[in-house]
Amino acid sequence: MNNVFLSELKQVIPTDRIYTDELRTLGWGTDASFYRQIPKVVIRSDGEEEISRIVKLCSKHHLSYTFRAAGTSLSGQSCTESVLIVAGKHWEKYELGANQETIKLQPGIVGSRVNEILKPYGRVFPPDPASIGSAMVGGIVVNNASGMNCGVHANSDRMLVSARLILADGTILDTGDEQSRKAFQQSHPEFISKIEALRDRIRADEELRTRILNKYSIKNVTGLNLRPLVAYDDPFDIIAHSIVGSEGTLAFLSEVTMRTLKDYPFKASAMVYFMTMCESCEAVVAMKKLKAGSEDLQMSAEQLMVKSAEMLDYKSLSSVDDPVFLQYKKDVDDGKIAGVEPGDYHNLTAILTETKATTHEQLLEKIARIKECLSQFRLYIEADFTEDPAVYGKYWAIRSGIFPSVGGTRPVGTSCLIEDVAFPIESLPEATVRLQKLIADHGYDDACIYGHAFEGNYHFILNQSFADEHEVARYAEMMRDVAKLVVEGYDGSLKAEHGTGRNMAPFVKYEWGEKAYEAMRELKQIFDPEGLLNPGVIFNDDPDCFIKCLKPLPVLSYDFDSIPDGGHYLMDPSLSTAKETIEQVKRANKCIECGFCEVNCMSCGLTLSSRMRIAVQREICELEETGANPDRLATLRRQYKYYGDQTCATDGLCSTSCPMKINTGELTHLIRQLDMNRSKTGYQLGEFAANHLAGIKSGLRVVLDVAHLAHVTLGPTLMTSVCRGMNKMGLPLWTTAMPKKKRQPKKSDLTQFIIEKSLTPTPSNRRGSAEAEASPSWGRMEEAPKVVYFPSCINQTMGQSKHGGKIHDLVDEVIQLMAKAGYEVIFPEGMERMCCGQIWESKGMLDIADRKSAELEEALWKASEEGRHPVLCAQSPCLHRMKKVMHKMQLYEPAEFIMKYLVPRLDFHPIDRHIALHLTCSTREMGVADNLITLAKMCSNNVFLPEGVGCCGFAGDRGFTFPELNKYGLRKLRPQIEANHIEVGYSNSRTCEIGLETNTGIPYMSIVYLVNECTTPKKEPQ
Ligand SMILES: Cc1cc2nc3c(=O)[nH]c(=O)nc-3n(C[C@H](O)[C@H](O)[C@H](O)COP(=O)(O)OP(=O)(O)OC[C@H]3O[C@@H](n4cnc5c(N)ncnc54)[C@H](O)[C@@H]3O)c2cc1C
Ligand code: SF4
Ligand code: SF4
Repeated sequence: MNNVFLSELKQVIPTDRIYTDELRTLGWGTDASFYRQIPKVVIRSDGEEEISRIVKLCSKHHLSYTFRAAGTSLSGQSCTESVLIVAGKHWEKYELGANQETIKLQPGIVGSRVNEILKPYGRVFPPDPASIGSAMVGGIVVNNASGMNCGVHANSDRMLVSARLILADGTILDTGDEQSRKAFQQSHPEFISKIEALRDRIRADEELRTRILNKYSIKNVTGLNLRPLVAYDDPFDIIAHSIVGSEGTLAFLSEVTMRTLKDYPFKASAMVYFMTMCESCEAVVAMKKLKAGSEDLQMSAEQLMVKSAEMLDYKSLSSVDDPVFLQYKKDVDDGKIAGVEPGDYHNLTAILTETKATTHEQLLEKIARIKECLSQFRLYIEADFTEDPAVYGKYWAIRSGIFPSVGGTRPVGTSCLIEDVAFPIESLPEATVRLQKLIADHGYDDACIYGHAFEGNYHFILNQSFADEHEVARYAEMMRDVAKLVVEGYDGSLKAEHGTGRNMAPFVKYEWGEKAYEAMRELKQIFDPEGLLNPGVIFNDDPDCFIKCLKPLPVLSYDFDSIPDGGHYLMDPSLSTAKETIEQVKRANKCIECGFCEVNCMSCGLTLSSRMRIAVQREICELEETGANPDRLATLRRQYKYYGDQTCATDGLCSTSCPMKINTGELTHLIRQLDMNRSKTGYQLGEFAANHLAGIKSGLRVVLDVAHLAHVTLGPTLMTSVCRGMNKMGLPLWTTAMPKKKRQPKKSDLTQFIIEKSLTPTPSNRRGSAEAEASPSWGRMEEAPKVVYFPSCINQTMGQSKHGGKIHDLVDEVIQLMAKAGYEVIFPEGMERMCCGQIWESKGMLDIADRKSAELEEALWKASEEGRHPVLCAQSPCLHRMKKVMHKMQLYEPAEFIMKYLVPRLDFHPIDRHIALHLTCSTREMGVADNLITLAKMCSNNVFLPEGVGCCGFAGDRGFTFPELNKYGLRKLRPQIEANHIEVGYSNSRTCEIGLETNTGIPYMSIVYLVNECTTPKKEPQ
């Protein structure tokens, strides 16, 4: 990289947002396409002024640049070998327009977040790519991405009102602002006159004008967007709309104002099975002709009765084990389907059909009309529309499951390619059958076709190896034949949604013809005379560029045999942590680098994301395997230590949005274990700790006591700065939120808690002693139900912080609450020696983790009388681990336990205090978050759920040693806490609560305190 450029860049951008190292350029350079280009420099931008300065600097040094939002593009348009400018996480502001009919958005807001913002107003953000949960507004608009519903009538081009742009010379133009337009008119008269001249020339050419309009009557994103030159008179409208679908080749989009649409309150779907693919397409054509009333115009911008019709061919149905398809197979093999030979299942085709309406009557009317239309076709089973979200949710899950199912079963090392073509709707029956045959003729036996039949738009998935020339040639030949079929056969679109990128760049002229292509070239020249914006994308003179720079997907291979397995200690050895970890790491080979996990990855933006970790590990494994570049290998390994390993929270939230359910946290566990194998001292320390846990817990209590004493003596400011200095030397960070030591319960408390004892009025029976003393009839010991309570090591050691202001530690509080509800508490024997194993798992000592789990499992099994009584653990991450390795008992964290067992035994008296909830990663992963929310709402009338806060980043004990992780994870929390006047926060993990308290300044504590405060024993037993 040009050193002068870099040093000048560092004068305008803080160095911590400029990456030139091997690791981060590889990580950030990875997008969802099958192309590999490693940028020389990655810049994480933070505002318009910065972008303006960067593009001027690039221009000065004649360096090309590429913009990046979420990097989920599939056609190679968000990767580069030059300068990559990321505009994601720092670009998330929005502003609602009058009546929420428009919304102004910065480019880094994730699409589904826009829908969350609009939901309370009954409105939606119309562009709806399947990637909407990860793709950002910048990428959605600039790719003109679309999905099942928006078709061509409500895509970004149609919904865009105005755009704020940063042009190649650094000028900022806001087409929605009169002043800005005037200023631009004066500063760039030539730009405007060239746009007008191009507009007028196209319009004067009737053949070209008509061709452009026809081409955009179906979905089309091949080449630059020419529609604005025909559709709008105003040159500023043309400029703004040209950005839609420009794939970063014209200008930077720094803000966009979009129209929103109303959401329909009534919806119904049916999975309709046709006897042949041809008939399914004929039915789609027929349904497209069904017109709805004019009220639909307001809602969806077009008057169609059917709102979407998704086609699933037999391979797609088979990939997801669709139950009707399985029945069809049986019927075919039993000879029950006339005219179909046993073993031949290729005819059955499903169309997932959806209709929507503003009233229920209208919905029923629409269903009746659609069914009438369908009655002319041969269906395998009768079309059955359902309004039940649970049932139609299953249909849509089948549709969404195709891609992960096919991608997930592909051979390791192959790429999962999704192609994306569109045909004019009337050609659909013939074109679809020909497409299916063409793909099969090229030997892609496992390929499946599915997609938005209603828009004539199909995707086909190929599991493609790029390992040898023969395979690359096969792919190239197939794509050339597909291009021929689409263009010469039907004048369709080679790219309907995913963008031209490098993938279709050589075919743009072929599809559009000379005149239209020249018009696109001219448009590009007006915006980007130096050709620095995303070169090679959309325009590429190399006819083979679509098969160059192909991304290798090396196998993740590790020395799995060296991982000691401690599973045999467990009651069910198949639940071994080592086995599960190895399984998960093998699963990571299915990663398609789509980037869907990044929205949930807390370290994305601080260090590496889950996708980047996998991409880097693939490179490391490849370098290890081939021995090709030992220096690069050593560098990547060294850099990975902090960016990849130490700052992975191992919370596994990445798996929750991964279509393949890959948990990159497990990859981190494995890497830590392998490191542990190399350094014997770490392992020995772990072993020592496992064998002397009771002593260590006591020691920790002493340390906390000393720290608390120092806090009282030195005061918070001096204590904090002393500890920051010590943290820099590698010691855990102490903050004012650190807990005091946990008051040690007496031995008699720990063996078996006697219920009457806890019913003695205490300060924590806060609803008043009269109520507390009204001992319920079920409170007598002989009738009391039992619960086994394992407080976790953390809660046996750490009490509340100085700010908590609570009299009781959590263990005592739980006992109080249980007693109030008439529950007898049993502690597992020897619990001071016990641990769920989480601490060892997170450090990569998987066998010790299982051994500790096994000890605990045995004690709980005994205490619960072999599973007769439920088991409660007050620390959700520990409970999460316990649930993974112990399947014989009913295990609960506090919220679920209280909802299930205590709610019927308590009266709730909600308070008005403004409280915040923190849903820990483990709470979300265990699927019990709703319990926590419901419970909190039963206790307080003002419950606040912060936005944009996922994993807190405390990550067990990592918040002590890498506090930056915790600070980054919670960067959006404090302003929300302050703005909403929150006094106290509740959660179900003591360690997370420490980090939350440190980063918000308000006390955080277990939900148990809130419930105990807001309840009294139920007067009328149920
Ligand atoms: C599994 C999967 C399913 C998908 N399904 C669909 C689908 O149903 N429909 C569909 O249309 N697409 C789909 N896509 C493709 C992709 O997700 C979309 O095109 C998405 O809109 C890209 O958004 P992004 O934020 O990832 O943008 P990026 O990939 O980061 O960028 C997209 C393009 O915009 C440019 N760009 C980004 N930000 C700016 C900016 N601020 N200013 C100027 N240029 C910018 C980039 O240079 C690039 O050319 C899918 C992808 C995957 C992996
Ligand atoms: S881990 Fe999953 S979500 Fe993340 S990039 Fe890989 S396949 Fe996509
Ligand atoms: S475990 Fe957490 S931090 Fe690590 S990759 Fe997954 S989401 Fe990111």
